[in-house]
Amino acid sequence: MRDQISALEALQQLDLELGVLEDDLEKYPQKISRLNEEIEDIKNSLAKAKEEFNQLRKKKTERELELAGNKDKIKKTEVKLFEIKTYKEYEALQKELSEVKRINADLEENIIKEMETLEELEALVKEKDNALSERAKEYENAINGYNLEINEIKKAYETKNQEKKKLASLINPDALSLYERIRRRNGVVLVQARNELCTGCNMNIPPQLFNEVLTSTRMIQCPNCHRILYCEETTEAELQTA
Ligand SMILES: [Zn+2]
Repeated sequence: MRDQISALEALQQLDLELGVLEDDLEKYPQKISRLNEEIEDIKNSLAKAKEEFNQLRKKKTERELELAGNKDKIKKTEVKLFEIKTYKEYEALQKELSEVKRINADLEENIIKEMETLEELEALVKEKDNALSERAKEYENAINGYNLEINEIKKAYETKNQEKKKLASLINPDALSLYERIRRRNGVVLVQARNELCTGCNMNIPPQLFNEVLTSTRMIQCPNCHRILYCEETTEAELQTA
C-alpha cells in the first residue's frame, strides 16, 4: 500500500507540474494578441493621419483652382473696364472686382494655413510610419521569441506527460481511477493526515480510520472531502497514541 501511495504522490507531483506548464501556455495567446492589437492601433492611427493629409490636400487644390479662376475673372473684368460706357457700369465692375479680390485674399490666407498644416501632417505621417516599421520589427521578434518558448513548453509538457503515462501504467487501475476521479473534482488528491485531522479540509478523522491511515493497510479516503489520506512518517509514538 505504501508503494501505491508513493506512486500516487509522484503522479500528483507530475500532474501539478503539467498544470503549471498548461497555465504557462495559456498566457501566450493573450501576450501575442496584445502585441498584434498594438500594431493594429499604430496602423489605424497612421491611416487616419494619411486620410487627414489627403483630405486637406484635396481641399487646398480646390481652393487653388478657385483662386486661379478668380484671377482669370479679374483679368477679364479689368479688360472690360476699358469698354464701359457709363459710370454706373464702371461702379458695378469695380464692385465686382473688389468682391473677387476679397474672396481671393481669403483663399490665399487659407491656402497658406493649409500648407503649414499639410507640412505638419506630413511630418506626423512620416513619424507614425517610422514608428510602425520599428514596432513591427520589434514585435515580430517578440512574437518569434514567444513561439520558441511555446515550443519549449510543449516539449517539456510532452516529456512529462509520457512520464506520467509510464508511471500510471505501474499503478493499480482501481487506485488510478479513484485518483483521477478525485483530481477532476478537487485538484489535489493526496493529503496528509495529521493529529487525526485531514489537512485537505481540516475535518476530524475518526480514530479508527486514522489508525488505518497510520498502518496504511488499505487506501483511506477522508470521510468529508474524499481525498486520499496518508501520513508522512508513521512513528512509533503515533502508532501507540492512535
Ligand atoms: Zn478531508
